[in-house]
Amino acid sequence: MTIRTPEALRPYDVALVGGGIMSATLGMLLQHLEPSWSIAVFERLPQVGAEASAAWHNSGTGHAGLCEPDYTIGNPDGSVDIGAAVEVGEHFRLTREFWAALVEERILGKPDTFVNPVPHMTFARGRAEVDFLRRRFEVMSAHPLFASMRFSADPATIGEWAPLLTAGREGTEPIAATRDITGSDVDFGELTQQLFHYLRSRDVEIHRNCEVRGMRRNNDGTWQLKVDWNTGNDHLTRKVDARFVFAGAGGWALKLLQKAGIPEARGYGLLPVSARFLRCDIPEIIARHDAKVYGRAPAGAPPISMPHLDTRVVAGKRALLFGPFAGANPRFLNKGSLFDATAALNPHNLQPVAGVLKNNGDLVRMLASQVTSTRKRRLASLREFAPGAESDDWTLVGAGQLAQLVKADPGRGGVLQFGTEVVASHDGSIAAVLGASPGASTAPAILLQVLDRCFPRYHHLWEPRLRQLMPTLGVSLGKEPGLARGTMNRTAEILGLEPPLVG
Ligand SMILES: Cc1cc2nc3c(=O)[nH]c(=O)nc-3n(C[C@H](O)[C@H](O)[C@H](O)COP(=O)(O)OP(=O)(O)OC[C@H]3O[C@@H](n4cnc5c(N)ncnc54)[C@H](O)[C@@H]3O)c2cc1C
Repeated sequence: MTIRTPEALRPYDVALVGGGIMSATLGMLLQHLEPSWSIAVFERLPQVGAEASAAWHNSGTGHAGLCEPDYTIGNPDGSVDIGAAVEVGEHFRLTREFWAALVEERILGKPDTFVNPVPHMTFARGRAEVDFLRRRFEVMSAHPLFASMRFSADPATIGEWAPLLTAGREGTEPIAATRDITGSDVDFGELTQQLFHYLRSRDVEIHRNCEVRGMRRNNDGTWQLKVDWNTGNDHLTRKVDARFVFAGAGGWALKLLQKAGIPEARGYGLLPVSARFLRCDIPEIIARHDAKVYGRAPAGAPPISMPHLDTRVVAGKRALLFGPFAGANPRFLNKGSLFDATAALNPHNLQPVAGVLKNNGDLVRMLASQVTSTRKRRLASLREFAPGAESDDWTLVGAGQLAQLVKADPGRGGVLQFGTEVVASHDGSIAAVLGASPGASTAPAILLQVLDRCFPRYHHLWEPRLRQLMPTLGVSLGKEPGLARGTMNRTAEILGLEPPLVG
């Protein structure tokens, strides 16, 4: 295939580097807010949405705080801190409002092409975990965001909710589960494609097969990008100027900030974590499971390693996934380089990365044991969730690469940063989103932070339009339960999701 290269590129108001869900969402926000701005996207692969955002490269959980045990913390006094779950829930509520507005504007297609109702469950085994889940449920279900959550320690009820969890389960170990029917499965790859499809129709230039390899600041404060086109036969380099650059490059976002040389990127480092899943495509088994069932992550491991038995809905077809299991791929992107991890090291982040490796023995041991894990051990993990699982029904498949964020910490050298972090230059001319979890689900809320940091003078000008897209922007629904139920009902109706339960 021959790739056409533009002869010359004009200066752009906005350059989005990378064609994943983050660039697509930011492009959509900016196109709505400033339709006259010129926007160009540069993606190194032949298609957009093909790295972490691709359907089978992530778990497709619409993270809303409904099922992830690691978003809640049990305190020594027995109380449960649900702050992180509430924050994710509030952010996902904005995501749903944003998608619903785009569906109403006919920018996105039929909702079931990218989001489908799948109940979210948390599963606990053993007395201590069951006790924690019960206390967690008591606090969570009192919050309006989680009012649809139900709890049961009765195996028969759990078996009705998710038959695979109880079929073949022997012994007297206590089990319990919570279930929330307002949960969802999301095909972020399809969503990314649909967002870019619309942007292209609004004159956003989407350049593929081209990699941004260098970046330097012009005298007037704008940026010059060095873009390398892979034409199939040759490599051609073009220079492109932009007023604002978003490094939406996923696992390579930090690399771009390092190339730009902004001091704000100093002290950040990355550790590669690659994920694999067991996948089942057998219709009779798939028909017996309609849920995303999460358990606790191993001690010291990032929330992204919480084990879960998942219904996926991709291109109208259902499948089951169980995992994730760490793989041995050292890249920061699936199509990245074997030298990603070493190339990202520099004098500013060497100490933080070394500190994390030294102080997080649990994580290092967990990753090492998973990398060397056998099929037998992976099946044993699966059978903790689905005791009747048969080896022949499940295939090990590769998923996306995760660049786990490390941050400098004066006391400990470096710490693992589990959330998603916005890093921007002091003048707001370049920004990136680092970290993976909760990631794609909360993209609109994260990118609103980018807009706030990089375009503070536009805040009041943009607010009315943003409220059309996200009517409850800036409202804490914990404090306004009536509004919570109202907007959740409305977005559920538009997106074809389950409305919250009453009472
Ligand atoms: C195993 C796994 C499970 C996950 N599960 C979930 C989940 O259940 N729910 C959820 O919400 N999130 C989940 N996530 C996180 C989610 O996938 C990411 O947060 C999200 O996809 C990141 O989007 P992005 O646009 O930043 O990156 P990507 O989708 O990776 O896109 C970055 C793009 O930039 C391009 N690029 C990179 N460098 C350059 C360059 N120099 N020039 C041009 N192009 C470049 C890449 O080719 C790529 O297309 C998961 C992630 C993983 C790895």
